[in-house]
Amino acid sequence: MHDTPPAGQHPLYVTQPDLPPLADFVASLEQIWDSKFLTNGGRFHQQLEAALCDYLGVEHVALFNNGTTALLTALQALGIEGEVITTPYSFVATSHALLWNRLQPVFADIDPLTFNLDPDRIEAAITPRTTAIMPVHCYGTPCDVERIGAIARKHGLKVIYDAAHAFGVRQDGRSILRHGDLSVLSFHATKVFTTFEGGAIVCHDAATKARIDQLKNFGIVDETTVVAAGINGKMNEVSAAFGLLQLGRVDAALARRREVAARYRRLLAGVKGITPPAEPGHEANHGYFPILVGSSYPLDRDTLFQRLREHGIVARRYFHPLISAFPMYRDLPSAAPENLPQAARVASQVICLPIFPALADEDIARIAGLIASA
Ligand SMILES: *Cc1c(COP(=O)(O)O)cnc(C)c1O
Repeated sequence: MHDTPPAGQHPLYVTQPDLPPLADFVASLEQIWDSKFLTNGGRFHQQLEAALCDYLGVEHVALFNNGTTALLTALQALGIEGEVITTPYSFVATSHALLWNRLQPVFADIDPLTFNLDPDRIEAAITPRTTAIMPVHCYGTPCDVERIGAIARKHGLKVIYDAAHAFGVRQDGRSILRHGDLSVLSFHATKVFTTFEGGAIVCHDAATKARIDQLKNFGIVDETTVVAAGINGKMNEVSAAFGLLQLGRVDAALARRREVAARYRRLLAGVKGITPPAEPGHEANHGYFPILVGSSYPLDRDTLFQRLREHGIVARRYFHPLISAFPMYRDLPSAAPENLPQAARVASQVICLPIFPALADEDIARIAGLIASA
């Protein structure tokens, strides 16, 4: 995932996983060795599903081996066909999941303040072939779930949230993952909660959960019955055991992330041409700290990005280029830059600064200082 940093420096990456004590993980491995049960819904898998329902405040969680197979399966589980309205301002897996299901992505523009799909643009993109909306809670900022829900009900569409950034995000005290037909999480090593690789589908009823569990295991129902062309999406016991250890640390990790974000905000306030992310009006997870580099800043975005890199700070241009600019998407009518002016502008200005629990105050000051002194 990471680019190679300049030689001879200790790079400061955009993120770093929050690892439990190695001895705790070794103790889990010993239990797996004793049980000789490595995958297929073992003890740790069951425990992690239950613990995540509890922690996230949702009814059902189906664990996956990564967020992308979870997205693929979510679309398959709902039998989505035709066109799906989605955002160009995301990680490429969002749209790839549509192509893998032979669906046509229809890109709609984003709201320039939340970086999420603009409900007006969603509604304008609906055609007779539209069957679903796949929005992203970008950087963990909740989408306008009320309006998206109302549009979906009015037009008879399914809603699958790519909630890869939204672990633990709450609004009015309740999980953002309650919304939509399904929500999909990623537990990749770069996310706020990780199982090395991993993911999950959050759903609201037992029948859907059972269907998803079949689909993530080749569509197998029992020894002699296979009902669908499912995938191998199962999470293994090592990842599940690691997830349980992560979960015990996640509140402390989120608290430190909040402090890091507050410190960046203080240090960057008043730097001309730099727009820090809006103050969240929800319980955020601070998984990302995106700044916009405007035209009144002395350097352009890419020059600032390079300068940070020369100082060993590996920031990332999430999300540049837009998904709609990649070769497998750019010829779609909805991929035309004129259709996506807000997304195009944000993609040309954004830099995500390093943010993770172990990021030291001195490093935050050094990064902010480099940005302020240009
Ligand atoms: C990380 C991510 C994914 C893919 O998840 P994996 O677990 O890496 O497969 C999908 N969508 C978004 C928005 C992501 O950030």
